[in-house]
Amino acid sequence: MDKRKISNTCFIVSIVLFAVAMIHQEWTEKDSNTTTTAQQNNVKNIIFIIGDGMGPNQMSLVPTPNNFERSQSIGFSKTYSASHRVTDSAAGGTALACGVKTRNGMLGMNADSVPVNSIMYELSQSGFATGEVASCRITHATPAAFYAHQPNREMDAEILQDLCKYGPDVFVAGGNKLLVADSLVQAGYQVIYNLDTMATIESGKVACILAKEDMPTSPFRGDTIAQSVKQALRLLEKNEKGFFLMIEGSQIDWAGHGNEGERLRAEMADIDRVIGVCMDYADANPGTLVFITADHETGGLSLPGEDLTPTFSTGQHSGVHVPFYAYGTGADKLTGIHENTDFKALLLSLVNR
Ligand SMILES: [Zn+2]
Repeated sequence: MDKRKISNTCFIVSIVLFAVAMIHQEWTEKDSNTTTTAQQNNVKNIIFIIGDGMGPNQMSLVPTPNNFERSQSIGFSKTYSASHRVTDSAAGGTALACGVKTRNGMLGMNADSVPVNSIMYELSQSGFATGEVASCRITHATPAAFYAHQPNREMDAEILQDLCKYGPDVFVAGGNKLLVADSLVQAGYQVIYNLDTMATIESGKVACILAKEDMPTSPFRGDTIAQSVKQALRLLEKNEKGFFLMIEGSQIDWAGHGNEGERLRAEMADIDRVIGVCMDYADANPGTLVFITADHETGGLSLPGEDLTPTFSTGQHSGVHVPFYAYGTGADKLTGIHENTDFKALLLSLVNR
């Protein structure tokens, strides 16, 4: 072989080796990209807990150690609405559920009255099971913000129609005087009225209505909410793809409006018990993220003196930032000071869809 042929052969071999090296590198990069994406999106179940009216000082009413203190990351949420420095629960719930600021009183639509899908609806469209548990009636502003699209939170009849169309697969809450079991049955729900019956159900849509309207206040409803959450989790976890469960401690807000310190203490003890149930579930079920926040603060609570006497500065909501807490898979991605409209996208970015 002459020198020229040897040189050509070496050149061709070099080109081939270079090409093989590049292809290998590309595949390795693709592989590591896939791994990175999988690591970022490894949340399968979201438990989204809203303490209605639960500002930064409300947590201090819970004796320590408590379940809030188990949180793996914390931050703050800015609660103002599109129309007011001080939000109501409809605009606050819509911001958390749908990721848009809207005007006070509006549900599931932006400030221009354009309907917006909630995180619950979007996950249901991706094959996730969905649920809601609340100590108020199911048509009240916060639970309704996750399924209804109405310009006024008082439009009960229209909200009930939205419940039948876009409601969660499973819910446990109070009822509504306009709520007719027939309409829920037509929407595919098994309508039941106690948790013992719920414990016998193994599949299908479930509407468990535990009161004619709102549930009793804490401590008079015992551990009903914690038991309701356990029943909802038992049904939702049957869905292999995963689930979204919204839980509302609805009456923290009402204790704040009434400036009732001891009632507020009891409601906070109840939500702490529910948070414990959910964090234990996350421990036992990797892939579960527990996210806890509020729509706004109620009562302008302070706790002066050595005995931390609950002292209120208003019978209304206040405009302070509210805390959020996260636990379980993906919790490390949730920290800092956020708009209340950020969480829908943030949580969805962590889910393996
Ligand atoms: Zn309120």
